[in-house]
Amino acid sequence: MAEAQSRATTHHYKIDPEFKHELMRVPGGESFKNCYQCGVCTATCPVARFTGTFRPNKIIHMAKLGIREVIKDDNVWLCVVCYSCREKCPQGVEVADVIRALKNMAVENGCIPAPFKELAAQILKSGSAYNIPESRIARRSTLGLPQLPKTNLEDLRKLAEVTHLDKVLKE
Ligand code: SF4
Ligand code: SF4
Repeated sequence: MAEAQSRATTHHYKIDPEFKHELMRVPGGESFKNCYQCGVCTATCPVARFTGTFRPNKIIHMAKLGIREVIKDDNVWLCVVCYSCREKCPQGVEVADVIRALKNMAVENGCIPAPFKELAAQILKSGSAYNIPESRIARRSTLGLPQLPKTNLEDLRKLAEVTHLDKVLKE
């Protein structure tokens, strides 16, 4: 039984020596090579504290080993870019930037979790991450708050076009 459980949780990954070179070419991805797996980033990370799966040191380790599947792992999308890890890393690894680089590689390979696709589509459509109710906008005046700035949707559309985000969202 114990052997069966152990088999069920074992993952077999293919090692791709080229992967780490690809990551190093993505802006922000370079510093991962200095990681020596002390685990301080994970001990510091507020997201790791409240999830059972997000472990920044494990993500960096997978990248170093050349495990390309790391960009298919939804966990890379859980980083909230608070930079707590960077403050504590004894090796100067820009953990959040490395994870951002992995997200960029994930996007290039069409690996975006559905909620993030919906969020991006909503921003392109309205300029906001969610539909702000008219009642809430009207309430700003009664509270003496300035009106919300208007987003230039045409600029957003052009940005999506030059970065190919528009195509990625249709995949
Ligand atoms: S704190 Fe730095 S050296 Fe330690 S595991 Fe995290 S990235 Fe690697
Ligand atoms: S930047 Fe990301 S990985 Fe680093 S501590 Fe914050 S949430 Fe965790």
